[in-house]
Amino acid sequence: MHEMAITQSVIQAICDRMGDKPIRRVCLEIGTLSGVVADSVQFCFDLVTEGTTLEGAALEIIQPTGKARCRDCGAEFVLNDLLVLCACGSANRELLAGEELKIREVEVLA
Ligand SMILES: [Zn+2]
Repeated sequence: MHEMAITQSVIQAICDRMGDKPIRRVCLEIGTLSGVVADSVQFCFDLVTEGTTLEGAALEIIQPTGKARCRDCGAEFVLNDLLVLCACGSANRELLAGEELKIREVEVLA
């Protein structure tokens, strides 16, 4: 279950950065192609934040859809998994979105 390790490093990064400030809300971006299951992160979040400055904080997860541009025909298309080809048949594509795994926003309790 690598979501646990990922959630732990996210929480650690926030604690390192924010010190003792109590956190009210965390917003994460987890792309649909990142290989990370958002529901699992949500579940781990409550366990990992227990006893930290993030305890009780709300977790919001934004999941950008996978998007790619074909290097052969230039078309942009949506992809929900990495096995999708361009409509022209080409697999030569550049990923534009969907692999995100980042902290987008942290709200401190006023
Ligand atoms: Zn194409």
